Amino acid sequence: MVTVNNVAKELHILENGSVIELAKSDIEKILSHAREGLPNEACGLLGGVIENDITVIKEVYLLKNIDESREHFTMDPKEQLAAVKDMRSKGLKLIGNWHSHPESLSRPSEEDKKLAHDSAAIYFILSLMEENAPVLNAFAIKNHTEVSSYTIQVI
Ligand SMILES: [Zn+2]
Repeated sequence: MVTVNNVAKELHILENGSVIELAKSDIEKILSHAREGLPNEACGLLGGVIENDITVIKEVYLLKNIDESREHFTMDPKEQLAAVKDMRSKGLKLIGNWHSHPESLSRPSEEDKKLAHDSAAIYFILSLMEENAPVLNAFAIKNHTEVSSYTIQVI
């Protein structure tokens, strides 16, 4: 079972008050792709809709980390394009991305902050540091420095 939204509180990361709905089956999908990718980071995109101020994730995309690294990731550009096309065809919006941290906490690394060019994107980070207790959090990263966390509601 994946724990959501606990690290942010422990690390005193501010909550931004926004809610994201994410299906349990999509969390399982992310988790299995992340485990398959070990020891490297795994990554992907998230498509969804915004309904009454709540972000609802409708589609999770599992992409290849072409860096094949345990400390950073680059999404395969072709797969990225295909995912965005698929979202458009389904009337979904690109909500953000996700990646795993095989050996560190579920929080943006310095590198993640540096590479966070989209202030409107939601950054999901799944920590596999505790093998049997994965942790998922979702963050906004503004100006490469201001990190806040979303509330993930598992549906
Ligand atoms: Zn990271």
